[in-house]
Amino acid sequence: MLKRLPVVYSPEFKYHRTSPQHPENPKRLEVIIQRLKEGILGQIVEFFEPDPAPLEWVKEVHDINYLLRFEEACLRGRSFICGKENEICYDTYEIAFLAAGAVIDAVELVEKGEKFIFCPVRPPGHHAESYTALGFCFLNNIAIAARYWQKKYGRRIMIIDWDAHHGNGIQNIFYEDDQVFYISIHENPRFSFPGTGLAEERGRGRGEGYTLNIPLPLDSGDVQFVDAFIEQIEPVVKEFKPDGLIIAAGFDAHQDDDMAYLNVTTAGFAEVSEIVRSWREEFDFPVISVLEGGYNLEILPTCVAVHLKAMLDIEAEDPEDF
Ligand SMILES: [Zn+2]
Repeated sequence: MLKRLPVVYSPEFKYHRTSPQHPENPKRLEVIIQRLKEGILGQIVEFFEPDPAPLEWVKEVHDINYLLRFEEACLRGRSFICGKENEICYDTYEIAFLAAGAVIDAVELVEKGEKFIFCPVRPPGHHAESYTALGFCFLNNIAIAARYWQKKYGRRIMIIDWDAHHGNGIQNIFYEDDQVFYISIHENPRFSFPGTGLAEERGRGRGEGYTLNIPLPLDSGDVQFVDAFIEQIEPVVKEFKPDGLIIAAGFDAHQDDDMAYLNVTTAGFAEVSEIVRSWREEFDFPVISVLEGGYNLEILPTCVAVHLKAMLDIEAEDPEDF
C-alpha cells in the first residue's frame, strides 16, 4: 500500500469560467477536491501547486498560430473558440497553461521517485489537436507532458485513455511515433463524439502498431470494459514495457453520466484501476493519472475516490463506495 497521495492541483483552475449550464464547469473540481480532503484520502493527500507549462514545451505539440489565436480570443473577451462548445473567458489561455504545467510537474515528481500522482486539472485536454480546440479542450495536457517526458528524459511512455470518448488529439499527435503508445477504450465512434477511434486506426509509418483503439458497443457495462483491459491491453503492456504510464482518466463512461452510454459502474472503475496498479507493481513504472471528462457532479467524486483507493491499494472505508 502506498501511504501518500501526491496531487498536483491549483485552486486557480476555477478561473477557466464557463457558463453555469456548461457541463465542463468549475464545480467539477470543487466536488473532487472536497472529496480528496475527506476520509482516508484526506489523511494521505499532499497538494503540489503547479507552474504554468513553458511555452517552448507547449509549442512541441501545438501550432504557434493556433496558440496566438487562442490567446487573442481570450484577451479580446470572446466567449468561444473553434466551435461554441469550447467556451472561453479572459483567463482561459493562462489557466490552460497551468493545467498542462500540472502534468509536466507530475513528470518531474515521478522522475524524483514518486510512484503515483493524480492531476485533477481543467480545462481537459485529450480532444485538443495541435492546431485547434475541440470538445472543451484547448491544450492537450497529456500530450504536452508525454512529449516532455519523452524528450527531456528519453522515456518510452504508454497512455491509456479510458474516457468514454476517443482522444483524437493524443492519437494524432503521436500517430507516427513508436516511443509513445496510445491506447484508447471508448464508445463506438460511429455513434459518439468525435467520431474517430475505429479499431483499424493503428498508427502510421514508424508508429504503425503503436496506437490501439478499443471501441465498445453502446450499453456495454463493466464486464466488457474490464475484459478489454485483461484481454487486449495487458498483452500490449507486457510487450511494450513502458518506462512510464499516463492515464487519461475520464469518468464519463459511468452509467449515471449523460455524456455516454457505456454503463460502467464505480466498481468497474475500481477494477480497472486495480489492474493498472498490478502492472505498476509488476513492471515498476510510475503512473500519472490525469482527469479528462466526467460530468455528473453527484457521481464524479466517488469515481475519483474509488480510482485513487484502488491505485493506492486502500480498502474502501464504506461499502457504498464500491
Ligand atoms: Zn469524454
